[in-house]
Amino acid sequence: MRVLIVGGGGREHAMAWKCAQSARVDHVFVAPGNAGTAAEKRVSNVPIAATDIDGLLQLAAAEDIGLTIVGPEGPLVAGIVDRFTAAGRPCFGPTQAAARLEGSKVYAKDFLRRHRIPTAGYATFTRDNFDPAYLRAQRLPIVVKADGLAAGKGVIICGTHESAIAAARGMLAGDFGAAGNTVVIEEFLTGEEISYIVIAHDEQVLPLATSQDHKRRDDGDEGPNTGGMGAYSPAPLVTPELHARILSEVIGPTLRGLSDDGNPYTGFLYAGLMIGADGTPYVLEFNCRFGDPETQPILMRLQGDFVDLCEAALAGRLTGTEAKWDARAALGVVLAAGGYPGAYRTGDVIAGLDAAARLPGKVFHAGTEARGDKIVTNGGRVLCAVGLGRDIAAAQAEAYELVRAIHWDGMQYRRDIGHRAIKTCG
Ligand code: AMP
Repeated sequence: MRVLIVGGGGREHAMAWKCAQSARVDHVFVAPGNAGTAAEKRVSNVPIAATDIDGLLQLAAAEDIGLTIVGPEGPLVAGIVDRFTAAGRPCFGPTQAAARLEGSKVYAKDFLRRHRIPTAGYATFTRDNFDPAYLRAQRLPIVVKADGLAAGKGVIICGTHESAIAAARGMLAGDFGAAGNTVVIEEFLTGEEISYIVIAHDEQVLPLATSQDHKRRDDGDEGPNTGGMGAYSPAPLVTPELHARILSEVIGPTLRGLSDDGNPYTGFLYAGLMIGADGTPYVLEFNCRFGDPETQPILMRLQGDFVDLCEAALAGRLTGTEAKWDARAALGVVLAAGGYPGAYRTGDVIAGLDAAARLPGKVFHAGTEARGDKIVTNGGRVLCAVGLGRDIAAAQAEAYELVRAIHWDGMQYRRDIGHRAIKTCG
């Protein structure tokens, strides 16, 4: 079988690497991929953008692709699964209607309220009915969110009423384009933040190994928010009791609600949760895709066939399907370009990839490009170095060995990925 992976980041490199290990897979295409996917055995890149659904459909027909797995949210929200399905091409991910869970925060919040799934209290406003008096009456801090996709930047936590009003006005005035035509004003929740990722088909669920990411740029979880500076699996915060509560109070009701609404969900479902003081899991957000960088450590631990899991979900055979996990922990450290998450340079030559390839662990590429016989930076998050070990601390040590082998001008990374898990486990 031939597989197509849509996207070009670290998540897609990990997916392509894992799919290429399947005995049933002859070849994996990645559109558009990166320098890392181009170098994998039985994998090749195709220069088609992840958002070019027509181009991807033509490729799927020309190469007789048997399974397409979609990495990023953009094409899912744009309806790639509906288009592929209509053309008779199996495509793993939610339909456009189900992907609104990520594509519109207003839709997601109204859905959660309607189905009585725990989430922060909120109100929504457009330019026509924006009411600063409502905002002034709220407790601080307060969270202001753009309704639509804003590349992870559409959430602003405000410490004063004036800054919240300014943030909302900015969004409504077009700071985030059409994504800010409606804003959500949300109560600020406190607690432990965790992510929980499952493979779903309608009401069938296969939970993936637990994982945790680090969103802030700097050590100690300080500095600006990013797409993710590192992640590890398993996440010791997710106890068996919490696991059970998340399934029964969030994942189950969400999938049932989607089904009842006539939008049954197939694909990866990622819940960003805040665990309250009494253990209640509150939904902060849903993503309709696998996380990046969580995918990299999770797939490092997956034993067995990733393609089988996706196909079991598509065929409605998830109940009774089990995923087997390496008992070892995995931890990934993101190496980012200087300046990220703000403006960053590209085109810097990356040194040390050959030396890193001789070490244990695996370096997944994200924003990289081959230029002649060199590999150069081509994005904000450039690489993710993943180590394995008997516990999080050992996996961390292996990951940072890889990091030490690699260098380019301006490279930045956190020195403390996994610090909270290591503290929890003693
Ligand atoms: P989101 O994209 O909605 O997950 O928001 C990005 C980040 O903002 C989350 O990972 C949280 O750290 C934070 N956040 C979002 N909503 C809230 C909230 N209601 N209370 C506290 N923190 C929040």
